[in-house]
Amino acid sequence: MSALTICDVAPRDGLQNDSKILDAATRAELVNRLAAAGIPRIEAVSFVNPARVPQMADAEEVVAGIERLDGVTYAGLALNDRGYDRLRETTLDEVHFAFAVSEEFNRRNAGAGTDESVQAGERILARAREDGIRATVTLGTSFGCPFEGAIDPRRVLELAERLTAGGADEIVFADTVGVAVPRQVRHLVGEGAALGVPVGVHLHNTRNTGIANALVAVEAGATVLDASVGGVGGCPFAPRATGNICTEDLVYLLHGEGLDTGIDLDALVEVAQWLEGVLGRELEGMVYKAGVFAPVSG
Ligand code: ZN
Repeated sequence: MSALTICDVAPRDGLQNDSKILDAATRAELVNRLAAAGIPRIEAVSFVNPARVPQMADAEEVVAGIERLDGVTYAGLALNDRGYDRLRETTLDEVHFAFAVSEEFNRRNAGAGTDESVQAGERILARAREDGIRATVTLGTSFGCPFEGAIDPRRVLELAERLTAGGADEIVFADTVGVAVPRQVRHLVGEGAALGVPVGVHLHNTRNTGIANALVAVEAGATVLDASVGGVGGCPFAPRATGNICTEDLVYLLHGEGLDTGIDLDALVEVAQWLEGVLGRELEGMVYKAGVFAPVSG
């Protein structure tokens, strides 16, 4: 078990924001290829209304297509009770609940105020505990919001405390729209250490600060990093923006820094190459195009 857990969110956050809709079998294949490359945790599906998010339709079928590997945690996103009802009927190990700290962002994204969503999260946490399902809470727009601007970190930490008290096994601070700079990440992750549960970050590379933010997060004590293979994805509020930080670019950096992820970088690059063919376009990731290199000898 590595000290760092990389969670690949390409099958969910990545594909959800791609214009090309993939069928369940192809999405299951992506999950299986990631697991085979040594990715320790995969956000495989989202249990949302397919009428709203057609890219995420047939989540149960995707899960049924997963060939489980030992040591891999398979997770799904649930934003409300209905989503959790569906998740608990599958073989997934972990629920990811997410909401936005920004009131306006949450209203537009989830159709509810932040407090209403937090209450839904508390119900999911209680149910997950009863069901023996590990639960991670992601606080969206932790660093900034396109409607409200900068977000006060004290507000973020208050909500993180409330959800930790409610039973969250892990807290993830998300830069949903990719505006964060390292100074903010260092501060929030550093303060998050007081929560007493593992702290992670979910970063988007919208303004090219994603990888710098990731390194600072690790230095500040984050043990969980979300990323997407190939850097696939986007931002629903910035049509020309790039997606999550790229998993293989992140792994290249971390391995070069002497940090263990348990991931086979060469195998992961092959997954990116495969996904490029599936999506029929060049992906945002750089290492899969430039090639792997050993920056430090020995
Ligand atoms: Zn995201």
